[in-house]
Amino acid sequence: MNSAPAPDKTQSVNLLDFDRKGLEAFFAVLGEKPFRATQLMKWIYQEGVDDFDRMTNLSKPLRSYLAEHGHIATPEVVVEQIASDGTRKWAMQTHCGNRVETVFIPEEGRGTLCVSSQIGCALACSFCSTAQQGFNRNLGTSEIIGQLLVAQRRLGPDKKITNVVMMGMGEPLLNFDNVVAAMHLMMDDFAFGLSKRRVTISTSGVVPAMYRLTQVCDVSLAVSLHAVTDELRDQLVPINKKYPLKELMEACRDNAKLAPRRTITFEYVMLDGVNDSMEDARGLIKLLKTVPSKLNLIPFNPFPGSPYRCSSNHTIHRFKTLLNEAGIVTTVRKTRGDDIDAACGQLVGKVDDKSRRHLKLKAMGFDSAA
Ligand code: SAH
Repeated sequence: MNSAPAPDKTQSVNLLDFDRKGLEAFFAVLGEKPFRATQLMKWIYQEGVDDFDRMTNLSKPLRSYLAEHGHIATPEVVVEQIASDGTRKWAMQTHCGNRVETVFIPEEGRGTLCVSSQIGCALACSFCSTAQQGFNRNLGTSEIIGQLLVAQRRLGPDKKITNVVMMGMGEPLLNFDNVVAAMHLMMDDFAFGLSKRRVTISTSGVVPAMYRLTQVCDVSLAVSLHAVTDELRDQLVPINKKYPLKELMEACRDNAKLAPRRTITFEYVMLDGVNDSMEDARGLIKLLKTVPSKLNLIPFNPFPGSPYRCSSNHTIHRFKTLLNEAGIVTTVRKTRGDDIDAACGQLVGKVDDKSRRHLKLKAMGFDSAA
């Protein structure tokens, strides 16, 4: 939750930066009652109105105060791509010129929006193309919730966003406050009103932030596991060196206690000859038996210069069967939007500096020619 700014005559605040509590605090400073927050949220998120003059249930002086000291600004779409399977990807430009990517995945009876939390990423997972951009900055709450507003506007009234996954660019738990405020808005009945089961945060395992999240925001949790030994996970998901598997699984168990039948979704990218042996599958069964879990196997999406290959269909199928037979509900993620590079781990600006990427891969111990 963001704290309220002191109304500063020299500064205009983006009102999308506040969740309901933040807006209530903002209005309190102005001597206004808390219900102003929900009135404003209804205009913005449900009526799609960004002109204060049209917010007729607010008093005239309040409207002119807001027009003078506040604004409602979303990122702007600069590229829209529509894949043959209906998946849409938008590159949105933020106020400082950076680009952020958002993907809409339509499925029977639902529409999932994959939302970014940072520009670039600091975590250097060796199989992820966003990692090669390096880290630029955190997105503000307005830039995160703005992705939903822009996407819904683009999709029109017939296509609804029914689910949100924080699985775009960035590590959401390293942008904690802004991501939590945005998720509050996703679930708030006066904003997007999604149930907590339909809002998922995905983390590579920032353990202290996982505990904090369990305390302050009840959303569905997905954890990018990808390996069952610390030795391999250290290579694939380097944050494992700081928060190894034992601590990660303990944090997952803590989160699972939030509700009786709650499960954690584990994501596991299938890398040929790296983490896809039957021994890995058995290790996974052992590990996941310690937490109420579901498993989502993600076929690796290659990108130029990546040193990995995706496991064969046969291997993925065997892996899945073994896990299912052991009683762990296992699905294989369908690759969507691959003709527009909208698939998992491919969210990276087209204007990628290849020489930098080459150097980074080398620094991580890979020969990019491999
Ligand atoms: N930082 C967060 C969320 C972003 S990535 C996290 O690590 O969970 C969302 C998912 O896509 C993660 O499970 C990530 O490991 C996976 N992913 C990244 N690159 C990929 C690739 N090239 N192919 C398949 N999945 C990938």
